Amino acid sequence: MVLPVAPLHLPADLAHESNGEISQTLLTLCGIGNFKMHHLAARAMRAMIAAYPPFTETATGTYRTYAQQVQLFTARYSLIPLPGRPTKVWNGTTYWQKPNTAMAAVPGTSNHGLGLAIDFAEQLDDDIAPESISAAFVAWLVANAATYGYSAEAQSEPWHWRYVAGDNLPAAVLAFEGPLPSEEDDMRERIQVPGDAAVFLLDGITCTWVADTKVSTALEQAGLMPPATGVKLVDRAGLKAFELRGPLPNNNVTVAADFAKWSP
Ligand SMILES: [Zn+2]
Repeated sequence: MVLPVAPLHLPADLAHESNGEISQTLLTLCGIGNFKMHHLAARAMRAMIAAYPPFTETATGTYRTYAQQVQLFTARYSLIPLPGRPTKVWNGTTYWQKPNTAMAAVPGTSNHGLGLAIDFAEQLDDDIAPESISAAFVAWLVANAATYGYSAEAQSEPWHWRYVAGDNLPAAVLAFEGPLPSEEDDMRERIQVPGDAAVFLLDGITCTWVADTKVSTALEQAGLMPPATGVKLVDRAGLKAFELRGPLPNNNVTVAADFAKWSP
């Protein structure tokens, strides 16, 4: 099966980031286990897995730091010449790919280092170890991944897919996320957290929030609360962004019970 390989468009907020050392605030849960990806890749991933046929998808890797890329590369490539084996050049030095290994990107060049790539796997039995991606799952991705802004990268790696749509989230992703709350909605009823600690300005309306570390951490991670002040204007787009940054119901309503489920 030929895998579709589309050119990668870089999200604007990655333009000045260093591969494998990107800001942690750009990464967020992607809807598969505790794996994190760049926030746009994660939004597209959540929409894509919601559309899955019954594959029990999991992953063996998403974001990889530079150090992790070095570890992976040096485990798979040898400085000792291996005639006939594929080679790669890293820092001007030639390396030979060891037999029975998958290829690895030269450290600092992997799309895993930008939070855009995922190595899919599946959970096909009762043990906790993931199994390799099935042919049926690959076929589904070949037919559907582009709809969600994902593309393969190399024919030799049917498990490795990366988000290529840059800042232009595909229509299918936006449709999955749904519209913003309407202008008529009373924002006070849209985020309901009991308590009397930090004061928030919610769409111009003063609201109070519980002094819960978990909540404030979640809000900080979502970019909705500067840690120094604890006060931030949250508008309709902000509420939607907050929902989409974590495993909260995508329904424009966030209540205390939702925060209880949040684990940053
Ligand atoms: Zn990969």
